[in-house]
Amino acid sequence: MGRRAALMPLLDRHDRPLRSLRISVTDRCNLRCSYCMPAAEYRWIPHEAVLRYEEILRLLHHFLRAGVRRVRITGGEPLLRLGLDNLVRMLAGLDGIEDLALTTNGVLLAEQAAALRAAGLGRLTISLDTLDRERFRRLTRRDDLARVLAGIEAAAAVGFAGTKLNTVVVRGFNEDEIPSLLAFGREHGVEVRFIEYMDVGGGTGWSEERVVPQEEILARVASAHGAPQPVAGRGSAPAARWRLPDGTVFGVIAATTAPFCADCDRSRITADGHWFTCLHATRGHDFRSLLRGPGPDQAIAHLIESVWRRREDRGAEEARARRLAGGPEPPAGADRHAEMHVKGG
Ligand code: SF4
Repeated sequence: MGRRAALMPLLDRHDRPLRSLRISVTDRCNLRCSYCMPAAEYRWIPHEAVLRYEEILRLLHHFLRAGVRRVRITGGEPLLRLGLDNLVRMLAGLDGIEDLALTTNGVLLAEQAAALRAAGLGRLTISLDTLDRERFRRLTRRDDLARVLAGIEAAAAVGFAGTKLNTVVVRGFNEDEIPSLLAFGREHGVEVRFIEYMDVGGGTGWSEERVVPQEEILARVASAHGAPQPVAGRGSAPAARWRLPDGTVFGVIAATTAPFCADCDRSRITADGHWFTCLHATRGHDFRSLLRGPGPDQAIAHLIESVWRRREDRGAEEARARRLAGGPEPPAGADRHAEMHVKGG
């Protein structure tokens, strides 16, 4: 990892570099969080359409040449994918990745933390929206809170540092737990990021009334833990960071009320090889047919360059402008790729 010569980064129409790539390795999940997967049944991506690890590796070579330096493995729930530590080992061996991270719901983490660490995974982000067993069961339709908490312990025990805890704050569900989740993070050495409930299209039933804005999140933190001070040096990171009087640092991802598209260097590949240059994008670019087609790999490099150079995405900003203008929300996309659990968050 690391050592690749400093190539001129590929810039989009807003001079944003292609730096951060999220790779979904499955659209399946072992939880059913109501703000992400409200439906009872889903049309899963057929197994034969899911990219094989070797295909992901081939793609990564081209993205690294195009300037990618940060790679995040996502899902659905990535720990459901068999032999994931083998993919991690392959990616960790690539020249150029400066940050190799993974986002998980933590249910299978206690069993897999040691293997992922040994394979070279650098960092973990674990999703946890409540510390209340009954609320967890109601939100996810699974009784797995204890397994997630065991996963957090296991990650620390095998040496993962810089672990983040992602909490989606939904009004009427968990805004009252903001202080206790922060205290939990401090006790377990993980940095909590409170995420504003956001609408990324798909059939999630999002409503603005259920958004707890950044200001209110900070006010709830301040009333319990003292006034937080902003931490400088955000760069292109989605979270704005804050420090409490006792030194505890936490983050807020305010994609709904304070979008951060101006510096966005992120894009996503779905498990079936479609590249989305924005979380709000409704159309992806198909790499699978290039990977499995007769053409030379050069076609992949050409697609990456031509698409990124034309990129103008500012999806969250446009969504906010539409809401402020009282405009109608675009209809939920019929394409399964519109769903958060397919795009990989
Ligand atoms: S909405 Fe799109 S452009 Fe804006 S920060 Fe998210 S991914 Fe980037």
